[in-house]
Amino acid sequence: MQCKLCGFESLSLDILLKHYLFCHYQGRTSPLPCLYPQCVCTVRTPGVLKSHLSRAQRQ
Ligand SMILES: [Zn+2]
Ligand SMILES: [Zn+2]
Repeated sequence: MQCKLCGFESLSLDILLKHYLFCHYQGRTSPLPCLYPQCVCTVRTPGVLKSHLSRAQRQ
């Protein structure tokens, strides 16, 4: 999986999520794109992103 914002790559969603939270959500208030390549959702907060990802994973 690849970060949509900077090209960071990881095999695990967990690591990509940590990267996202640490590098891109830090101090940010605007929405960021979902981690999934096929998904066009934007998410405003880390908490919403986490629940969005776990919902998307189950489908
Ligand atoms: Zn990134
Ligand atoms: Zn999504």
